[in-house]
Amino acid sequence: MLKSLYFKIVLILLIFIVAVMAAVGAILLNGVTSFYMDDFAAQMTECFEPEGFLMRDLTEAARAENAPSRMKDVLSSYRNILGIDEFRNYYVLNTDGDTLYGSDPELGAELIMTPNLLSAISGSETNLRGGGMDYADWAVRIHPEGKGTSEESGDCVVYIKDSLEEMRQLNSVLFSIIIQSMIIGVLIAVLLSFFLAKSISSPLQSLTYDTQLVASGEFSHEIEVSSADEIGVLAENFNYMKERLRSTLDEVNGERQKLDTVLSGMRDAVVAFMADGTVLHSNVSAEELFGDELRENRLMLDDCLEKLDLPMTDGIDGLDLTTADGVEITRDGYIFHDRITDGKVYDVGYARLRYSPDDGAEQEIGCVFIIHDVTARYELDKSRREFVANVSHELNTPLTAIKGATETVRADPEMDPDTRDYFLDMVLSESDRMHRIVSDLLTLSRLDNNRTKWDIETFDMRAFIRRICEVMRPELTAHRHRVTFGSERNMPEITADRQRIEQVVINILSNSIKYTPDGGQIDIVLTHKKKQTVTLTVRDNGSGIPEEDLEHLFERFYRVEKSRTQDAGGTGLGLAIAKELVEAHGGTITIASKLGEGTTVKIELPVECRLKTEKN
Ligand code: ADP
Repeated sequence: MLKSLYFKIVLILLIFIVAVMAAVGAILLNGVTSFYMDDFAAQMTECFEPEGFLMRDLTEAARAENAPSRMKDVLSSYRNILGIDEFRNYYVLNTDGDTLYGSDPELGAELIMTPNLLSAISGSETNLRGGGMDYADWAVRIHPEGKGTSEESGDCVVYIKDSLEEMRQLNSVLFSIIIQSMIIGVLIAVLLSFFLAKSISSPLQSLTYDTQLVASGEFSHEIEVSSADEIGVLAENFNYMKERLRSTLDEVNGERQKLDTVLSGMRDAVVAFMADGTVLHSNVSAEELFGDELRENRLMLDDCLEKLDLPMTDGIDGLDLTTADGVEITRDGYIFHDRITDGKVYDVGYARLRYSPDDGAEQEIGCVFIIHDVTARYELDKSRREFVANVSHELNTPLTAIKGATETVRADPEMDPDTRDYFLDMVLSESDRMHRIVSDLLTLSRLDNNRTKWDIETFDMRAFIRRICEVMRPELTAHRHRVTFGSERNMPEITADRQRIEQVVINILSNSIKYTPDGGQIDIVLTHKKKQTVTLTVRDNGSGIPEEDLEHLFERFYRVEKSRTQDAGGTGLGLAIAKELVEAHGGTITIASKLGEGTTVKIELPVECRLKTEKN
């Protein structure tokens, strides 16, 4: 309230009115006093003019026997001219200062010896204007003509003293008039200031209200321009400013939304940090990477560096990442290659966030990390390297054997025929092995590059399995395995590439033959699900597979216990090829196994495979 503009305007006007009235009053009262004093002095000067009637009569009266009494009479007769009344008196004094006569009814009261009176008693003829603050006086020494010196003749002093009571009464009347005018003035001022303050503060109040609305984000409200004065101009300017602010905010929001859309659409995780290490911005992928720590705003720069296995820092200023492994320095920052975290591999881009104000030097306000998941590429690179190493190794072994056998035969032309046959058989079997590897690799390569030529036909699975068992009979017999084959009734025919499926079944069956000790049991079962899918189960009671190897069985060149399986003639490509072929048909292949107890392979194929006949 006390700080309001309204109160200030009223107060200023009141102070102004009171100050003006006080100044006017003071000047007026002072003017009245001064006028009264001047008037008294002028009147006295005129009355007591040396050649005037009063002085002549007084001088004459002074010569008489009873001079003081005669002088009193003269003064009394000049009463009107001298302005004698209840407030102004005349006195006749002797040169000793004793009051002899006077118009004052209380003559006995002692007269104060004023400077004018003392000066007249002493014989001087000068009177000072204005005797004091509470009186005005005039004293004249009367010397009778024709008498000797003043001492012997007994001069008298005529003394006029005005108590200024009349002036005081006038002043008090004036004072009360001034006070009354002041009260009326104050009332008028209050009334006027009320209207004035209202006319100024009302538009300002509504302007204040409107600005508060704008400050709270309410831009739709238009400020009413009710006048053409400065306040009206202010309101108009404010409306303009509000519009500019709204369009600027819209632009900023638009840009922000675009940025958000771009960031959220990015598969790379983006997280920006402020200079104090707290998160400034992040996207959905970053939330997936950093989890609840980021979602709950707990993630700090150091946590991010730690997770990405980057050097720790005391904040952005001390951040020196040039020492990190695999760093590549770019124009705007760094890229750190192959950071491994949580079993995934990332390329991490790092850049400093800079801000250049219009009127100042560039400041560093934070940094941003762009985290690109390169696990797939990394794995691919790794598997390619491993693949090349595996192929080299797999081919190297038979090649070494062939070379050794050939050199041995060549070095000894006299070698007996049995030994020569032994070495030549070795060359043949190792060549076969190499041929198998190369043809398996070719099969995989064609599958990888979608260059496999499919030959789709419809056939009965039961007859198909029986035929394969017949084909493999010599091998089964050689290992003395017992084979059973069971099938559900009403098995549907399937449409697939017969030769490829045959290759798959032979791979699985020959694995069971190879990895089951002689005299083992192999059960083949054929079932279907609502004539939609057909499932072939091959179960053996062989060596089984350790649990930790199960997930790797379909990888190329993966073999459990390399030496054992190599002896069995395996290449480590059979299951990889089987998986590729089954999946190409839209089916699945799974292996369940227990070490020492046996292995079960399940192949599920759709009755109608998704491959089309290709005749190229
Ligand atoms: P390979 O040509 O070496 O047999 P596969 O890809 O067919 O290659 O099989 C991969 C590995 O899985 C084999 O080396 C073998 O160790 C294991 N394996 C596959 N089938 C069986 C099975 N029925 N019993 C035990 N081990 C098996």
